[in-house]
Amino acid sequence: MRILLVILTATAGVLALTSCKQTPKQENTTPIAKTTPEVEIVADRFADIQMLRYTIPGFEELSLQQKQLAYYLYMAGMSGRDIFYDQKNRYNLQIRKTIETILETYQGDKNEDNYKKFVVYAKRFFFSNGIHHHYSTDKMIPEFDPAFLDTLISKSDFNKMPNEGKNIEEYIAFLKPILFDPKIDAKGVSLAADADNVKASSSNLYEGVTQKEVEQFYKSKIQPGVKEQPSWGLNSKVVKINGKVEEQVWKSGGMYGAAIDKIIYWLEKAVTVAENDAQKATLEALVKFYKTGNLKDYDDYCVLWVKDTASRIDIANGFIEVYLDPMHKKGAYESVLSLKDLEATKRIAAIGKEAQWFEDHSPILPEHKKKSVKGISAKVITVINECGDAAPSTPIGINLPNQEWIREKVGSKSVSLGNIVASYNYARAKSPMIDEFGENPQVIERVKKYGALAGDLHTDMHEVIGHASGKINDGVANTDVTLKNYASTLEEARADLVGLYYITDKKLIDIGVMPTIEVGKAEYDSYILNGLMTQLNRINPGDNLEESHMRNRQLVASWVYEKGKEANVIERITRNGKTYFKINDYDKLRTLFGELLKEIQRIKSEGDYTSGKSLVENFGVKVDQDLLKEVHERYKALNIAPYMGFIQPKLVPVMQGDSITDVKVEYNNDFIPQMLEYGKEFSFLPIKN
Ligand code: ZN
Repeated sequence: MRILLVILTATAGVLALTSCKQTPKQENTTPIAKTTPEVEIVADRFADIQMLRYTIPGFEELSLQQKQLAYYLYMAGMSGRDIFYDQKNRYNLQIRKTIETILETYQGDKNEDNYKKFVVYAKRFFFSNGIHHHYSTDKMIPEFDPAFLDTLISKSDFNKMPNEGKNIEEYIAFLKPILFDPKIDAKGVSLAADADNVKASSSNLYEGVTQKEVEQFYKSKIQPGVKEQPSWGLNSKVVKINGKVEEQVWKSGGMYGAAIDKIIYWLEKAVTVAENDAQKATLEALVKFYKTGNLKDYDDYCVLWVKDTASRIDIANGFIEVYLDPMHKKGAYESVLSLKDLEATKRIAAIGKEAQWFEDHSPILPEHKKKSVKGISAKVITVINECGDAAPSTPIGINLPNQEWIREKVGSKSVSLGNIVASYNYARAKSPMIDEFGENPQVIERVKKYGALAGDLHTDMHEVIGHASGKINDGVANTDVTLKNYASTLEEARADLVGLYYITDKKLIDIGVMPTIEVGKAEYDSYILNGLMTQLNRINPGDNLEESHMRNRQLVASWVYEKGKEANVIERITRNGKTYFKINDYDKLRTLFGELLKEIQRIKSEGDYTSGKSLVENFGVKVDQDLLKEVHERYKALNIAPYMGFIQPKLVPVMQGDSITDVKVEYNNDFIPQMLEYGKEFSFLPIKN
């Protein structure tokens, strides 16, 4: 599971860069902020995106062997880049190659408005790893004139484009509707109720099959009575051939084999410089899984990965998160390479150490509590590289593995991405956001003072004790089976609620991670504001919520708002035509968070689909369109980018003959040059439709 930044609140860092002296459509990166003399943190701004950079403190201190290891794992991670593009949509690689060719060879006037709009589209495409918005998953329609596509193609090197033997006219006619027709592949991931979500989603995970057929196909795989089920469907595309439903497995020699062989090549090099035997065995197990595609091998790998807590360098690599799949089975390719931040790990470790106390004092029903919460290995990591599903838009916290039975039996690893959060906090600088939406000066002051720490703490607890808490009743299947398309939203809500319930607990002061309860109140202010109001800025007028984390946050906030109405726990105020939400009773609010946590844990433990569906549909999906309109207008005046993402550092080996004598980090790449460089260096999949 991953946790994303609550971008639009004032807490959690982020937010709100004014981003400043740049006009939104400016093309070149202007250095406008620095953390060190060498590295500009704030980079390009375009459309709804603010690009940032992050640094890798501590990399220089690594031993040569650790640097070599990091380099090999960096190459392994990057080698799978094509896979994620192709998973998201079958046309993405072809369109990417076409965009790259135009950017590199276009001979027309680059100052004309249409060309500038094309460049903005190219950036949005790269940012989203394809034609659908990275967050809303709606298809992004280019702003340049459709007729201008003809100019772009005819004035660029057509022979370098993946035209599959089509002539220019045919190729343009083929591309135009894919780019401009809003009805073709309209939605990347559809979670709409009562729709065939497999048919309605245009990700490249299923072909020619219905949701029913997919459900049937995987139901037949489950071995009754066996708790330690493999993650059926995680590493394959489901297709129908000659009337028969079957899987095309992502492995060496199978689908995506060309890229996977490169990943294996670099992983095998990494094995030779592993830090210790546990890490060596882990990397070897990952290689084995990529070779066989056998999900049992994947489980073996995950168990080894969880147990390797001593290594300084770590990588989460493979088909991991299932948010790209409306059926929550298929893992999106991602790679997050990191080194452990020894200092910052102390805070998160203090929380992890008390996991049993938090479980014992939780408001959930006694029968849903874990008697012993196992193996929570919490740490703060310093990211070295991200790829696939983790870039350029990144999580700020990760909790893996996702297999419920491994989490219960062996444990899980929870990490907070320290240097990413630091860049967000840096960029936040002087946010005008809380001044606009905060109900009174006390709230505004508190959020400014404690918002960043509150956000960090909430993230830590979400990951470390949230996802790890509670247990499923004996005989009840995993939530992807019982709660289906509501599983992710409910799981994220559950983890958020554990964090919210405890963030105003004196216990956090006692263990030395929080100076005052005011920190917890700042989190309540921010969370309610975001869930009831400000996150609406991220969706289009007329739309309802689709993304799991957004659904979860509205579900939580609007449930406590409704349930607390009689006691006036949260008050809706209109002043000068503007809406505000004011928390009148923080203690009662905490109690309400506890009640909702108890109910959602019950739903998960019992696999109660009907109650889960009704919670999500009644509180987490429908949007107050008048409020949405107001939020959009107020935000527009602030000129804040709703999303942020990162340009990656580059690892460059210093070679002497065949051996690596050092590895250097280069920071100051720009977004498009980096994308073009990646396109040259890491394109391994054939383009065919
Ligand atoms: Zn989570």
